[in-house]
Amino acid sequence: MPGFELFGDAERRQLNDVLDNGVLMRYGFDGMRKGHWKAKALEAALETQLGVKHAQLVSSGTAAVTIALASAGIGAGDEVIIPNFTFVASFEAIMMLGAIPILVDIDDTLTMDPKAVEKAINSKTKAIMPVHMCGSMADLESLQQLCKAHNILLIEDSSQATGATYNGPTLDSIGDLGCLSLDFVKIITAGEGGAILTNNASFYRHADHYSDHGHDHVGNDRGAETHPFLGYNFRISELHAAVGLAQIKRLEEFVAIQKKNYTIIRDALSVIPEVQFRRVPKGGEESYSFLSFFLPDLETTRKVNAAFKENGIDACFHYYDNNWHYIREWHHLKDLKTLYPLSKDVKDGLAYLQTKTFEQSDHYIGRNLSCLIKLSWTDEDVKTRAQNMAALITEVLNA
Ligand SMILES: *Cc1c(COP(=O)(O)O)cnc(C)c1O
Repeated sequence: MPGFELFGDAERRQLNDVLDNGVLMRYGFDGMRKGHWKAKALEAALETQLGVKHAQLVSSGTAAVTIALASAGIGAGDEVIIPNFTFVASFEAIMMLGAIPILVDIDDTLTMDPKAVEKAINSKTKAIMPVHMCGSMADLESLQQLCKAHNILLIEDSSQATGATYNGPTLDSIGDLGCLSLDFVKIITAGEGGAILTNNASFYRHADHYSDHGHDHVGNDRGAETHPFLGYNFRISELHAAVGLAQIKRLEEFVAIQKKNYTIIRDALSVIPEVQFRRVPKGGEESYSFLSFFLPDLETTRKVNAAFKENGIDACFHYYDNNWHYIREWHHLKDLKTLYPLSKDVKDGLAYLQTKTFEQSDHYIGRNLSCLIKLSWTDEDVKTRAQNMAALITEVLNA
């Protein structure tokens, strides 16, 4: 990760197809296109690669999460359970629909703890949305059991683990709906973009219409199409889809490169007894986009992180002290800083964040470093990096 490291002729050729006929929009203009339908082709490729019946491309991963929820009928006053270690898109999407994000603890998988999820379920709960963070997955079997027992939906977000598998199938094909991101830093990129994946024909139809102003997409005259329900514009452009189409064909190649680089670094760190790797649920195979491990305590982790930074080991993240992915620094959420008034339901529904503490997550995130695995490293780069990381960790531990 990220796919942009390996741009080349394939991406350029796909883009030139679009520029040659000038149709930048994914719908309509059949006569001008000379047979080029990049968004449709990328949707078909996603369906095949990920083993899912329906894919709907949209303008971003955040849009994909929003549309997945809307397609499943989730809205005002409903509760959706998410992990407190995720990307801000998870709660942004839920709140955009007037629903309430219920944040729960993670465990040593760095994804939501099924025991914490179970405690958070009540009569308002409509969905559980695990986020497969940093290349590995949530305990989907336990979450599926909870969903069945309580008659609620399972919505996956594989944006950071596209290409990982669980008991065989690819992530995003296991829950009722899946979401992935094709933004600039993801394993395969379209520049900007995202997709909703589902085996459910009705959810797919909703996603198809909702992401294009409610258009039914019947016939080939947009002006004559009907609107069975209200929608919005979350369309992807043909330019973005063209880049994504070149990249999806390289997903397996990218995962294989990541696995090779990940393994070299993991082997080097494995000899240090104080280093514990994140747990991958039984039956899961990572996408290897990150190598995530735990150190003995918060102080050691801060010191190792500082030593990495001082010594040129880039792209390792200590999310405890980082604004992006962990509840601890999400003051804009905790203080409900919005540009526009929120509904009473959402305000009341989020009041718990004023007092709730997350000791279990602090225990894991405080001691975790997640290091991005790059595609562009040479074997020499990776070996040197692995040795340097091991040496720096040992130095801090022995200080
Ligand atoms: C990147 C990301 C998204 C959404 O991404 P966009 O930038 O909107 O495409 C959603 N969830 C997770 C976990 C992500 O990492």
